[in-house]
Amino acid sequence: MSDDSADLMGLCKRRGFIYPAFEIYGGVAGMFDYGPLGCILKNNIVEAWRHIYKGREGFIEIDSETVNPKDVFKASGHIDNFADLITYCTECQAPFRADHLVKGFVDNPDILTPKQLEEEFEKHDIRCLECGGKLGPVDEFNLMFKTHIGPGSARVGYMRPETAQGIFVNYPNLYRYNRERLPLGVIQTGRSYRNEIAPRQGMIRMREFNQMEVELFVDPDDKDWARFPEIENESLDLIPNTTLKLTTMTVKEAVEKGVIANRVLAYFVYTTKQLLTMLGIDPKRLRFREHEKDEMAHYAADCWEAEVLLSYGWTEIVGIADRGCWDLSRHSQFSGQDLTHFKKFDEPKEVEMDKVKAKNKALGPRFKAKAKDVAAAIEACKPEDVKDGKLSVTVDGETYDLDGECFEVVHVKEKISGERVIPHVIEPSHGLDRIFYSILEHAYDHDEKEDYTVLHLRPIVAPIKVGVFPLMEKDGLDKVAKDIYDAIHRSGAEAYYDGSGTIGKRYARMDEIGTPWCITVDYETIEDGANKGTVTIRDRDSKDQKRIKVEDAKAIIDSLLAGKDFKDL
Ligand code: AMP
Repeated sequence: MSDDSADLMGLCKRRGFIYPAFEIYGGVAGMFDYGPLGCILKNNIVEAWRHIYKGREGFIEIDSETVNPKDVFKASGHIDNFADLITYCTECQAPFRADHLVKGFVDNPDILTPKQLEEEFEKHDIRCLECGGKLGPVDEFNLMFKTHIGPGSARVGYMRPETAQGIFVNYPNLYRYNRERLPLGVIQTGRSYRNEIAPRQGMIRMREFNQMEVELFVDPDDKDWARFPEIENESLDLIPNTTLKLTTMTVKEAVEKGVIANRVLAYFVYTTKQLLTMLGIDPKRLRFREHEKDEMAHYAADCWEAEVLLSYGWTEIVGIADRGCWDLSRHSQFSGQDLTHFKKFDEPKEVEMDKVKAKNKALGPRFKAKAKDVAAAIEACKPEDVKDGKLSVTVDGETYDLDGECFEVVHVKEKISGERVIPHVIEPSHGLDRIFYSILEHAYDHDEKEDYTVLHLRPIVAPIKVGVFPLMEKDGLDKVAKDIYDAIHRSGAEAYYDGSGTIGKRYARMDEIGTPWCITVDYETIEDGANKGTVTIRDRDSKDQKRIKVEDAKAIIDSLLAGKDFKDL
């Protein structure tokens, strides 16, 4: 952990943003609890994300199970492929992520095989970080937490490693809810679990973390977005995988030059920039890096990471991918359910095709009451299902091998009104904790000389919007201050009443947790004179102070929260 990060984590713990989990029992690496201020800040981030995806884009939200049966992750590929490479020290048995150990020696350690990693250990004499011992062989380590659903070991379950699967397995319900139309945008926020090998980077690598995922189901032949023209001239800092060089270009150029695969993906890359900068991520410390060809999942058409510069170096905080038809195809294949979209043609089309037709005359005497069901099963087959002139169908759990007496393949002309397609998925996947931490790091400002800390948090995320102080807790000043606090706090904007210590100390306490404004009630508020009935309001970043009327305090805070500049009060 760098000095900055250690100082910030110290502040987070002292002031109630983040606590290392289970501290009284010695703590567990990669596990954290959100304290009172952290909870508010985290919820504020979620609300801003909802505001964009639900409010502006009209997407729907669900909340699905965190423990899932094995079938889900067999289909998603997590059981077979969701592993990191691990090595143990042969002397002290400390575990390490093998690829992390070779960082600095090779450009892209993610793509090395276990054997290549072992060779790098040899070549650069890389040893155990704890005791200097020799490192053992490199192996795969699945990151999912395994459990059992119900008593005994009958049904294996896993804690979800991402929230996305809960959306995919609900596709038929959500598609119906959306009245069988595309695009269908669904969001979900909640906990995800990854049994990280050696989490040493604070909130960047957690074993239980929070995601805000967006799954947008689109027509595979229509990867456009109606609102694209609104943002097409905005700029993006991109590192394409073709050049690996940072290039600034407009969203429109990125699509026209083929840098970003399509308009819908580009729109959501830009939306990610909008969200992150609105939350207070410094745009100069934000860039989008395209996955390299061998880093990209084989099914992904294109994948970009929003990376921010932190004391840990450039760090991925959001992934935005075009996942093609992978997710729904796999779940359809493993569940046997129809996870398609019926795409209606503008005009019905006449098509010629081969079809399997049942010979009802032969089926009646042979199958009696079941003949109708067998006929339906036959006609659900495709011509390519006929093998050596035979067809196998299953009805009520019984399989029948049929020959040409029961069916025929006929060539027909038919009018069809549409076709079934498997929707493609565009996925902006946000790491909530990483965003939370990045906002804090970019807001953190410590003056060594003065030993004074300010968190320059944007009002939208600041956990406390206004501190309210009586100069003294007597002579009725406290009553006026409490009334102001009540009026603001009750209306839903977090306020904090503080009556102890010097005013300077109270400002310092508020600055350190990023409170944008403070209101002070002093003797001028209650004594006869030009300022009677007024209080001072102070702006955290400019340190400017103004006098406002007591009865206007709430409305003024509302207007500042709505974006009014302090200078214009
Ligand atoms: P992924 O599915 O790996 O692309 O992850 C999606 C997002 O979740 C990433 O962009 C990260 O911000 C976040 N994330 C992934 N793993 C962790 C972790 N172990 N701790 C905290 N955040 C994570």
